[in-house]
Amino acid sequence: MTHPPPRRPIRELPDELISQIAAGEVIERPASAVRELLDNALDAGATQITLRLAGGGVRLVAVEDDGAGIPPEQLPLALKRHATSKIGNLTELERVATMGFRGEALAALASVAELSITSRTAEAPHAWRLAARGGELAPASRSPGTTVEVQELFFATPARRKFLKSDATELAHALDVVKRAALARPEVGFAVWHEGRQIAQWRPAPWLQRLADVLGRDFEAASRPLEAQRGPLALRGRIGQPEAARTRADLQILFVNGRCVRDRLVSHAVRSAYDDQLHGGKQPAWVLFLEIAPELVDVNVHPAKAEVRFRDGGAVFQAVRQAVVE
Ligand code: ADP
Ligand code: MG
Repeated sequence: MTHPPPRRPIRELPDELISQIAAGEVIERPASAVRELLDNALDAGATQITLRLAGGGVRLVAVEDDGAGIPPEQLPLALKRHATSKIGNLTELERVATMGFRGEALAALASVAELSITSRTAEAPHAWRLAARGGELAPASRSPGTTVEVQELFFATPARRKFLKSDATELAHALDVVKRAALARPEVGFAVWHEGRQIAQWRPAPWLQRLADVLGRDFEAASRPLEAQRGPLALRGRIGQPEAARTRADLQILFVNGRCVRDRLVSHAVRSAYDDQLHGGKQPAWVLFLEIAPELVDVNVHPAKAEVRFRDGGAVFQAVRQAVVE
């Protein structure tokens, strides 16, 4: 007969460990850091965003923007868990229009990596830099906007670091995240550097041009535009012709109210619209933007905000299916 281990008393976890546990859900790999930092830059109204990566993003993810900046007295708050400038009450949460709202990305990153923020508002005479570890705030120099640098991801949580793949794989995931942001925000310029070499650059452009810049002319040529309004739901984007279907569902990009998410319901709806034309499990390629009243979709269901939940999934399924069939 085995004995249960002796019961340990309940204790409150130390703050740092709480952050690291939370970070486990939010930050999975360098691409998650890229996503969070891009979201922040976009929320700050950036028109030009530059990413610098090293070691596939494991050694460095730095995101520089020309957005609104953070006043120096608020820099320490930006790193605190559950501290945000984006929502202040439940009503605002339920109608959130910004990419961020959980107030935990920077705190999570600071708990598993070396993080610093350098920021300057339009009115400030110079920038300030805050290093998360040590917490010292020092004058710095840069134009208005913000740079967040994340170095040595998971150095503080080596077990997690072991789950990372090769630099090339991590870089590919990170670049995918930038591509999605670039597709959603064609009016914003993006540049990506890896190990001192520029690997991507997308200048502000009309959406169709941006689509071709990011996904290639082939996709544009092999796809048709889609634009439909079905009750509370608006859908637009491009859908690949059946001949351009792929063996894998690797080019199905969905934005719900501007946020890139994965959603089986929408994928199934599009696939089912193509049922007669696609055989052998082939998958259509598409980029779709779905706009829906914020009260009909819950964005607060996934720590990394990678999923949403529709209040009436059946209605969304039907609406998407019909819009694609027509
Ligand atoms: P959230 O985005 O959910 O608010 P974060 O931890 O990502 O939480 O950021 C905390 C706060 O720091 C934000 O609410 C915002 O006020 C500020 N912030 C972060 N990044 C930037 C940035 N690039 N430009 C301006 N402010 C920023
Ligand atoms: Mg954020």
